[in-house]
Amino acid sequence: APAPPPAPHLFSDPAEIDALRRDLLAWYDKCKRDLPWRRLAATEADADRRAYAVWVSEIMLQQTQVATVIDYYNRWMQKWPTLQALAQASLEEVNQLWAGLGYYSRGKRLQEAARKVVSELAGQMPRTAEDLQKLLPGVGRYTAGAIASISYGQATGVVDGNVIGVLCRLRCIGADSSSPAVIDHLWAMANALVDRSRPGDFNQALMELGATVCMPKAPLCGECPVKQHCRARRRVEKELAFASQKLLGKPTLVPDVEDCGVGGCPLCPPATEPWGSLGVTNFPRKAAKKQPRVARTATCVLERRGCRGALEYLVVQRPSSGLLAGLWEFPGLPLAQGVQEEQQRQALADHLRACAGLPVAAGGLQLIGEVVHVFSHIHQTYVVYSLPLDRDVTLDPALSPSRWVTEEEFHASAVSTAMKKV
Ligand code: SF4
Repeated sequence: APAPPPAPHLFSDPAEIDALRRDLLAWYDKCKRDLPWRRLAATEADADRRAYAVWVSEIMLQQTQVATVIDYYNRWMQKWPTLQALAQASLEEVNQLWAGLGYYSRGKRLQEAARKVVSELAGQMPRTAEDLQKLLPGVGRYTAGAIASISYGQATGVVDGNVIGVLCRLRCIGADSSSPAVIDHLWAMANALVDRSRPGDFNQALMELGATVCMPKAPLCGECPVKQHCRARRRVEKELAFASQKLLGKPTLVPDVEDCGVGGCPLCPPATEPWGSLGVTNFPRKAAKKQPRVARTATCVLERRGCRGALEYLVVQRPSSGLLAGLWEFPGLPLAQGVQEEQQRQALADHLRACAGLPVAAGGLQLIGEVVHVFSHIHQTYVVYSLPLDRDVTLDPALSPSRWVTEEEFHASAVSTAMKKV
């Protein structure tokens, strides 16, 4: 068996674990934010409906701020209050409601999983974290733990970005927080700490603490309900005491703030990047971010006067898999690096001819400008052209799906934020 982690990175005293649970839950009961999914989880008597309500919120909250999610969540639950209702929706409707929330595959996978529960599991949600993760596509370890603890009261921990921050600070874990050694340790700690009688509230409290008090850049340690259990804070206090003693010219011992005392500890900050002047925000330590890929796309806003007199724009549907799957966009094509404007125009004209059957002259395309949109892993620039058409055009239905929309219809459609910018 692997050696247990060094004691400074563990909660090994049962009395301290009890105290931490008590302090955290008392604070949560007093200070928690009133959020629609919490209200639903607390009042819904039906276990499947409760699990579904938590599931939707957890998927929406991945990579998205609470303030943004609230409105989307309310509209979603109003439109599809049950798994069965969601299973009957079309992908188009799902994308339409999801438009603007980003990471579109989340909505698609949520709906696919709902269909699976209805068709293969007789409409009943799996009842444990293990089964949720095993049986539902798109449900990972974190989401499974959140649904099971909040909806069914299973005593299982969760580890998300907020929990990583809090636990790394509580136990001075300064190694790369995405490394397998740290992740395994944090899951073991979360499972050991979770309150046995109120697991869902405990997990939400830990996440709430990370979101509202123990924040990444400016933690409010003075207001923290678990500060007496926090080793990062203790270390800062030790350093401050040392500095003031030194200022007063009093002889004092150099504080032991280098590491946990175990040579080569896999949980301490690397020896090359020791504890710096950042105080508690030395933790958690993240691996250097990968630079996003740079991409350029030529895109064309085709415009015509519709039969009711209003201006209409041509949109085409993206393929049903990959980035922004199934969403609508102005027709366009990716550009190779360093392509000159003349070549861009020609490539775009050829593309419009091929995809929309339009005999477009490259010279007729008017360059409007560039729009930059940063996806999580792509730094995308759209080079935007426009082309007003003075006659009606009929599109070949055998080619990729396309339609003409007014500006109002465009904004109500399943289009990405990037296209709205365009
Ligand atoms: Fe986070 Fe500060 Fe609380 Fe420690 S004392 S858990 S660093 S807010």
